[in-house]
Amino acid sequence: MIKEICQLRSDFPALGQLVSGQPLVYLDHAATSLKPLAVIETIDHFYRHETANVHRGAHYLSDKATQKYEDARTLVKNFINAENNSEIVFTKGTTESINLVAQAYGDEYLNPGDEIILTEMEHHSNIVPWQILAKRKKLTVKWVPVTESGELDLNEFKNILNEKTKIVSVVHCSNVLGTVNNIKAIISAAHNVGAKVLVDAAQSVTFMPIDVQDLNCDFLVFSAHKLYGPFGTGVLFGKSELLNAMPPYQSGGSMITSVSKDESLFLGAPQKFEAGTPNVSGAIALGAAIKYVEKIGLANICAHETELLQYTISELNKINGVRIIGNSSSRVNIVSFVTDGIHGADIGQILDQQGVAIRTGHHCAQPLMNKLKLTGTMRVSLGVYNSREDVDIFIRSLNKAVEMLS
Ligand code: PMP
Repeated sequence: MIKEICQLRSDFPALGQLVSGQPLVYLDHAATSLKPLAVIETIDHFYRHETANVHRGAHYLSDKATQKYEDARTLVKNFINAENNSEIVFTKGTTESINLVAQAYGDEYLNPGDEIILTEMEHHSNIVPWQILAKRKKLTVKWVPVTESGELDLNEFKNILNEKTKIVSVVHCSNVLGTVNNIKAIISAAHNVGAKVLVDAAQSVTFMPIDVQDLNCDFLVFSAHKLYGPFGTGVLFGKSELLNAMPPYQSGGSMITSVSKDESLFLGAPQKFEAGTPNVSGAIALGAAIKYVEKIGLANICAHETELLQYTISELNKINGVRIIGNSSSRVNIVSFVTDGIHGADIGQILDQQGVAIRTGHHCAQPLMNKLKLTGTMRVSLGVYNSREDVDIFIRSLNKAVEMLS
């Protein structure tokens, strides 16, 4: 393990507590990351000393809050290498970002008979908004299958892609299998038929550099809370020409140039999509999270989590009756597994009694579960704060649970 990363654990106050009388072993990073002091203190400082609304006050604190909110936008823009700040919309999270695109872009530009391509490894948040849109506008949803090894079948993707395809919405890293998809190949093939591509980067953004210009994606979405940041804040990146051509998603204050009894005129992106008072402290704390991650370095985070995942997988493989789901070589920090004849929820409960937090269930990916003929899996997901010792405690506890329940 990288030495500096060992020392990082003290940045996360949550790791100092006991759960069920045992030191917490937090292996549920993919659901939400623990928060470093840098983020917690930023929120605390904002509410103590800087509380004010943005974009409208004629006073010192409002100017300061506005400046910090817009600085956070610049941090996000640089983090994903967008071309300009107007391409960064603050939302509630990945889910809202996808809903925004499905509603604003989908309603305006998709017509009956058009096709949307999703994949069998999508999170529900990248399925349901498209299904609702498809129903409303008489569109067809097509699916890229997942192979035995837990990867996307890109040959089949190319077969279903055609000139009727208007949107390809695809996850960068599966929250169940951990597979990191070859997103660049998908984007380039989709663009060849004139389709737009939305990338769900909810997981990938936490461990790999994202360059939206290099990827050439049309939209990219993520949540702050998985990136060591706060709840209730997320990002929609959209290419300027697309955002500017889209109608508003929600409407009200802060998104208009003028309102009369007859009509309202709207600001350009991103304000057009940020109706009402935004989550000011959330955006600023996301900025703090980005600074935190950049200080460690995404390459270091990726190397650490990859090494730890390999160790976890090799230790899981030693336990009789444990079956790992998916074996893509392109993965960083997530592994799902099942145990023959034992329900995952029962194991999860026993692990919890030993202070070990993992995730069990369908992980909001029921189409994938159906494909795999599973009702759920157990999932271990690793963050920058996890150590080999965490994995050792987890494996010991899992062995114990399997023994008790067999
Ligand atoms: N996509 C993926 C791949 C995810 O892992 C998640 C969260 N588990 C989401 C979308 C939804 O994110 P949120 O709930 O923060 O909107």
